[in-house]
Amino acid sequence: TMKQFPEKVLVLGLARSGTAAARVLLDSGKDVTVNDQAASYEDAFVQELQKRGAHVVLGSHPLSILEGIEIVVKNPGIRYDHPIIAEALRQKLPVITEVELVSYLTQQPVIGITGSNGKTTTTTLITEMLKYSDCNVKLAGNIGIAATEVAQTMQADERMVIELSSFQLQGISGFRPTTAVLLNIYEAHLDYHGDLESYVNAKCNIFKNQQADDYLVYNADDSTLKKRVIHTNAKKIPFSVTAKLDQEGVWTDETHVYFFDEAIIQLEDIVLVGKHNLENILAAVAAAKLNGATNEGIQHVLKTFSGVKHRLEFVGMKQGRYVYNDSKATNILATQKALDSFKKGIVLLAGGLDRGNEFDELIPHMENVKAMVVFGETASKLERIGREAGVQVIKYAEDVNDAAKTGFSLTEAGDILLLSPACASWDQYKTFEERGDIFVQAVHTIN
Ligand code: ADP
Repeated sequence: TMKQFPEKVLVLGLARSGTAAARVLLDSGKDVTVNDQAASYEDAFVQELQKRGAHVVLGSHPLSILEGIEIVVKNPGIRYDHPIIAEALRQKLPVITEVELVSYLTQQPVIGITGSNGKTTTTTLITEMLKYSDCNVKLAGNIGIAATEVAQTMQADERMVIELSSFQLQGISGFRPTTAVLLNIYEAHLDYHGDLESYVNAKCNIFKNQQADDYLVYNADDSTLKKRVIHTNAKKIPFSVTAKLDQEGVWTDETHVYFFDEAIIQLEDIVLVGKHNLENILAAVAAAKLNGATNEGIQHVLKTFSGVKHRLEFVGMKQGRYVYNDSKATNILATQKALDSFKKGIVLLAGGLDRGNEFDELIPHMENVKAMVVFGETASKLERIGREAGVQVIKYAEDVNDAAKTGFSLTEAGDILLLSPACASWDQYKTFEERGDIFVQAVHTIN
């Protein structure tokens, strides 16, 4: 299947995607060298690759391994100014990422999702909507199995749904999703890409190989995207939370979500909260409808899906209180989005690692916050913000477990208990997942 692909390949970085790429290439009879700084000759996957015939070089990235190489498959996390990549580029070698291999391995439809924010949520929604419509889907990429591994086993009636980062997309040359979803572009990740222009270019790679019968679903409220998508060959399907798109796309009014002129679901039946999630929902409805989802399947998912874990996830009701876990909110922007998602009666639990910043940008979003519980390194900074915003009650807590209990004691029936820390977790927890799990656990034990 990979006849068109060069014979002598260097796989750089042996994380999950690199290892998967190396396996697929070895299966196709390629001459594969794998190179990784951190992996050990003792690792089972390294020994397996070696047994299958890979040349293994570990511990450093000697430039000499480029000798005879025709193409480099690099881990998306390795920067283009890394000495070995810089040297490969100087030698005019193609440098790609693992997803590029997908188009060599399968001709089945591929739904690719990218954007600065909302990728995981939208990817999950699309996958579930298709599943509940009895369509055969396979989830690939960051939240699934490595793309090459999935691509290798695709059946005739299957579709692949894959979340794509700008880092992955920068390394494609022929990869073509049959449906591309472009959610939004914020000025993030500029340290890697250098400038906004190259970041936008990388994102827009998602549609550069699309053809006339492919679809490009894009956010028509995003002015950067709106300008860029003029240059596509694909059929454009805009979505918007502000404009009426009954002739051309997916949109919403006060009451429903519409696909062109067809009402798909009532807004009040949707469990996910927040305008940002409504954008993700519109994008997902578009991609799902274009790929054969039924309205029943879409409705079922939107009536039951309570959010990706730790992302403004509706944990459930506790004695009449609405409990939300937004532990993934490790920055101010995310907590702003969370605060904007509710009307009144928010009890906000926030705090964590101190990165030296202040939190004044939260103040305009805090009018529905009735009480706050602050914890971690930033507790006193957040307390000051709460005071300035006019929050009536502010308490300190030891940690998130303590904050959950204190916070709950400040709620009444109908209120919202919201963990949305606006900070990374590393002052007290290994990961935001651990922090979120402890919060949920603490709420469950309240009686
Ligand atoms: P990603 O996979 O792109 O990181 P997620 O779906 O995991 O995105 O969401 C991460 C966070 O990004 C959410 O908790 C929320 O704060 C924010 N977010 C999600 N969707 C959007 C959106 N459409 N626009 C802006 N922010 C969003």
